[in-house]
Amino acid sequence: MRRNFSKLRLLPAALSIATVACGTSSAASRSSPGQSASSPTAVVIDAGHGGFDRGGIPGQMVAEKEMTLDVAQRLKSLLAASGYRVVMTRDSDVFVPLPTRVAIANSYGNAIFVCIHFNSAKRMGAGGIETYFYSRDSLPLASAIHYYVAGGAPSSNRGVRRRGFYVLRKTTIPAVLVECGFLTNPTEAAYAQTASYRQKLAEEIAAGVRGRNSVASALNSTPLATGESIPLQSYIDQTKVTKSEGHRSKRSHKKSARKKKSSSKSTESEASAPKTPEG
Ligand SMILES: [Zn+2]
Repeated sequence: MRRNFSKLRLLPAALSIATVACGTSSAASRSSPGQSASSPTAVVIDAGHGGFDRGGIPGQMVAEKEMTLDVAQRLKSLLAASGYRVVMTRDSDVFVPLPTRVAIANSYGNAIFVCIHFNSAKRMGAGGIETYFYSRDSLPLASAIHYYVAGGAPSSNRGVRRRGFYVLRKTTIPAVLVECGFLTNPTEAAYAQTASYRQKLAEEIAAGVRGRNSVASALNSTPLATGESIPLQSYIDQTKVTKSEGHRSKRSHKKSARKKKSSSKSTESEASAPKTPEG
């Protein structure tokens, strides 16, 4: 389990070599927006939380819902300028239920779903970037976005992870959830509160969206991306998948997180422990 995580963490280094080796011409033609078939690729951008759902943990100084919306709106501008059709699950400080977010995403056929969150933990020192996916089809997009965001952020690289967050499991299009740093970490919270850093995050996510096919090609050329080396079932906590479905109760989520924590010696579990089911 841990071995797989550490392998994934090594991906950026391998990818940087492979991407360079690919050259620019083929990568550029593959990654040009919306060129598949007839209609342009739609990008459904999901700013986490909103309205009464502030995000993060109780007592957290920086409201996650504001940071996610700002990055989402910046991403929207960048992708629209690149020719993508962009759809926002929310474009203001409103609460949108998770099934509604999923329904919006699933109403587009030729589309990808990018869910933006920031992390939180009781331990102030916890920090870093992590990217989640669930379906196998979502892994190339997750790898590409993580490659750029983790590469461009001063935070540590917590890796690409598979987990059954509701919005990832219920979407029928490639779907990724990126945790853009910890708002409970003083350094990362300070970064997140600057417009220039949020712009940087949006630019890196946009680069991942644009480069998803070329990064996927690089992945496919490495043994790391084969079904044998990235088992989709073995390194996900399936208990958590079931428990996190269809409810937003922090208390019950914490309960499952505590259970997980007690059975895991990994420090990684603390990052997602106090959060709502969608991250
Ligand atoms: Zn969140």
